[in-house]
Amino acid sequence: VKLEAEFQHARKMEAVGTLAGAIAHNFNNLLMAIQGNVSLLLLDTESEDPRHEEIKKIQEHVESGARLTSQLLGYARKGKYKIRSLDFNSLITKTMASFRQSHPTARMASHLAPDLDAVAGDRSQLEHVLFNIFKNAVDAMPEGGELFIKTMNIGHEQIRKRNYKIKSGEYIMLVIADTGVGMEHKVRRRIFEPFFTTKELGRGTGLGLASAYGIIKGHSGYIDVDSKKGHGTTFFIYLPTSTHPAEKTDYKDKSVIHGSGCILVVDDEPAVLEINSRMLTKLGFRVLEACSGRDALNVYRQNRHIVDLVLLDMIMPDMGGGEVYERLKDINRNVKAILATGYSLDGEASHIVKKGCDGVIQKPFSIDRLSRVISRVLKPGPPAKGKVAN
Ligand code: ADP
Ligand code: MG
Repeated sequence: VKLEAEFQHARKMEAVGTLAGAIAHNFNNLLMAIQGNVSLLLLDTESEDPRHEEIKKIQEHVESGARLTSQLLGYARKGKYKIRSLDFNSLITKTMASFRQSHPTARMASHLAPDLDAVAGDRSQLEHVLFNIFKNAVDAMPEGGELFIKTMNIGHEQIRKRNYKIKSGEYIMLVIADTGVGMEHKVRRRIFEPFFTTKELGRGTGLGLASAYGIIKGHSGYIDVDSKKGHGTTFFIYLPTSTHPAEKTDYKDKSVIHGSGCILVVDDEPAVLEINSRMLTKLGFRVLEACSGRDALNVYRQNRHIVDLVLLDMIMPDMGGGEVYERLKDINRNVKAILATGYSLDGEASHIVKKGCDGVIQKPFSIDRLSRVISRVLKPGPPAKGKVAN
């Protein structure tokens, strides 16, 4: 009976995941068009311009829209696009600091293992997981309380017995405990379901823990919870460790880098194609357009000697970015390409990067981010193969 229930539960999670993924994909393309236009507008208005503030407001809203889609994609496990070797302690410290800014009264303490192993993961997605759990904890402590965070290295055999099987290997364990209201059994068993919320309309979306669950699964990790009504809540997260040492975190750069040359843009969504062309033109590039994979191959064949770079959408109906890239390489072994993606299907994006694609940019993107990725790829000298956009 228990197995049957678990099976049903897994099926339900899958089905909603598919739905969420499809919605998020279309919504992301919409955001892409808005984001692009807004970033062009911003570039054209001086900061003294009275419209500047309003445009910035629009951009902020687009960004929160993008956060929402990324939650949905996270749940659908399709958002793992920027895999790096991470120092998890510093990720926690930074997320705690930014959480404190928006929740200045929250009392937080941490005990982080100084020798914590690195984990391979997507920084912003994992930040998302932490943020969601912190936020829930604060919501569960309306009268105040304490949030405690702990990390340590752990072997698979030390992980407490659960009804799922743990793959053997080394893990890091992250414990997040609060002294809040806790949960009854019937709430606790549903918290990872998408759209399950006990909060009033407008306050809860029920997506926080569903996306956390999807993201942790997407990182080959495990998440579970201990909670009792009136006795607080403790989340346990286990992530497999990475054999590579943690990379240094990169700084956020907002500058726009102009360039020259010819770029072939490929996207099946007319609004996205148009805004990408306009951003590239603005950056100083000559632009060729293609509205499908086949179209792209034709245009490239005719113009292979002038095209310096292909900006390639990953999900297209007739022929996806992965296949287009393969065929472009048949035409010209040294073709340069950047993959534009809202998400990756089971790591499809990273798969294509492994095949030599020069970069990946996550949709929706603004003109400044686009310009930086292009400048990195077109930089003279040995190409930084496999480098992923930030
Ligand atoms: P939301 O926060 O939008 O309701 P979540 O997926 O983040 O959605 O959480 C789902 C539900 O799980 C919450 O509505 C709440 O009932 C319960 N929950 C999550 N975290 C805690 C916690 N730390 N303490 C008590 N209840 C919690
Ligand atoms: Mg929440």
